[in-house]
Parts: sequence; C-alpha cells; structure tokens
Amino acid sequence: MATTQREDFSCAAATNDSAYRRIATPVLRIDAGPGPAVALMAGVHGDEWEGQAAILELWHRLPDLLRRGTVYLLPAANAEASLAGARLSPSDGGNLNRAFLGAPARGYTESVAAALEARLLPRIQTLIDVHSGGASLRYLPASVITRQGDDPYDARLPALARAFGLPHCIFFRGGEPGSMPAAASRHGVLRLSAEIGGGRESSQALVARCRDGLLGCLAELGLLDRGPRAPAASPALYDLNADAATLRAAEAGVFIPEACLGQTLEAGQALGTLIEPARPELPARAVLPSQPGTVVCLRAIARSHPGDCLAQVARALSLDSLPDLYRPCS
Ligand SMILES: [Zn+2]
Repeated sequence: MATTQREDFSCAAATNDSAYRRIATPVLRIDAGPGPAVALMAGVHGDEWEGQAAILELWHRLPDLLRRGTVYLLPAANAEASLAGARLSPSDGGNLNRAFLGAPARGYTESVAAALEARLLPRIQTLIDVHSGGASLRYLPASVITRQGDDPYDARLPALARAFGLPHCIFFRGGEPGSMPAAASRHGVLRLSAEIGGGRESSQALVARCRDGLLGCLAELGLLDRGPRAPAASPALYDLNADAATLRAAEAGVFIPEACLGQTLEAGQALGTLIEPARPELPARAVLPSQPGTVVCLRAIARSHPGDCLAQVARALSLDSLPDLYRPCS
C-alpha cells in the first residue's frame, strides 16, 4: 500500500488590494517503495482543464494503484491562474511556461517556477506535463514531444507517446531558456507533454482519455503492474515546428472556420474566412494555410486580431520518423 504526503508550497501573490497575499500550489507525493520518481502536472496554464481534472481524479485513485516508485501530483501548478480560470497569473500577468528564469524571482509566477525548479525537478526522472488549447484554441487530443535546444533523441519518447494512447502526437522545438521544457532539460528530466481539447470548456470523455493516458505512461515507466487498456496503435506525428504550420491572422476579422479539427486540407484549400460584419463593404477574405495537411489546432474565439493563431496544419507522419526531427539539419 502506497503512502501519501502533502507537499504543498505557497508563493507571494500580492495585489493592490492584498498586500501579503499568498497562494498555495497543491502537491501530493505518493510513495510505493523503490523505483522511478515521476511528476504528473497540469495547470501550468490555468484555463487548460483536461489535465487538471484528470490529475485530480488520480489524486484520489492513484494511492491504491501505485505498485512501485514515487509519483508527485500537481493538478494546478499555477494555482492562482486555475482559480481565476485564466491562462496567465492574474497578480503579475506571468506565463508560468516562460518563467523558469532563475534567481531572483520577480513576482508570483517566477516564484512558482523557482519552487518547481528547486523542489520538484531535482527529485524526478520523468515529467508528464498536460496542456490544452485553453480559452483561445482547441487541439486534437495529442501527446506532445518538445525538443529543447539540441537535446539528443531519446528512444523512450515514442514509447511514452504510444503509452499515452492518444491518436495524435505533436512535435515542437523549444529554444526559450525560461520554458518548462528548458528547465526539465537542464535537470536531465525526461518530459512528455500533451495538448487535449480547449475552448474554455471540457468533457468527461476527454478527461478520461487524459487520465488513462497518464496511467498508461506510469505503466510504461514501470510504476504500475499494467496500464488501463491494451497499447494503442502508434499515433500520427505532426511537426508543428515549421513556420508554415502555424497560420496567424494577418488582419482583423471574425474567423469563420469551414474546416474541422482533424480534417485533411489539400494544397490551396481554404480553412475558412475572415469577415467584418460592421464593414459590409469588405469582402470575405479566405484563410489559406501555407501548407496542406491535417488541422491539428483551431482558434476557438471568432473575433480575431492581427497575429492571433487561427490554426495549425501539418502533414501526418509516421511516429517512426521522429528520430529524423533530431538530425542536425532538421
Ligand atoms: Zn498550456
């Protein structure tokens, strides 16, 4: 039987109305003897709900399931943002996924990042960090592999992505030293992420897929006797690193998508239109992806402004091609 211990930490989150305010980040440590140490985290962005709900379920269920090793559960890493239903921290506007900048920590968000880097990352070998589209985007249910800088290829990554069991897998390349992937890389922590759902809503179906994916990863890492289901087929891989994959609004308008998430667009096929009902003389403008492929991500808010991400589109690749994305020329 595993043992549990709360290891919450709190950080100052002063506002104009509350001088000495502090916000606690909940952390549950579950110990089941010798074995790997793994953290399951969500809520780095406070409005991304599937991972937060799934890890909250595991908060109550995992102590009975864990067979070996140690698991840290963080259902709401940016607790202030989660409580506010916001992507960024309300007290300082910080983005926790860009706040791993080292000392001195300026404000609440960097203090949370500093606490995670000091208290969590040195104690784990693997981090599963679940994101979603949040308020402004919706994603196909996808595991995410981020190559930070010149990180070498790690053959455990495709195995973890398969174990997560989602039908899609996104590849990003990270270069910002303040990101969570950068911090994990600095500590030699194997990291898999996910993008599941979004659009300021959630559903138990997506939460259950996320929960089962996290359990599948723990089984793959040897902490459970078996996963929640038989291993799924390999996910399709989408390289979203290329500039051509992300389609941004070049001008203001109301975004009317014609394509759906998961739809495959041919070359030259429009994704939707931008219209301006308050300017009836303006013609509808076609929104054309720079490359053909599957719609992996779609903006969930119609009113759009220049620079807003409207969609991400990329060709489906075999997961077996992942090592190619780690070659020096990639
Ligand atoms: Zn996120």
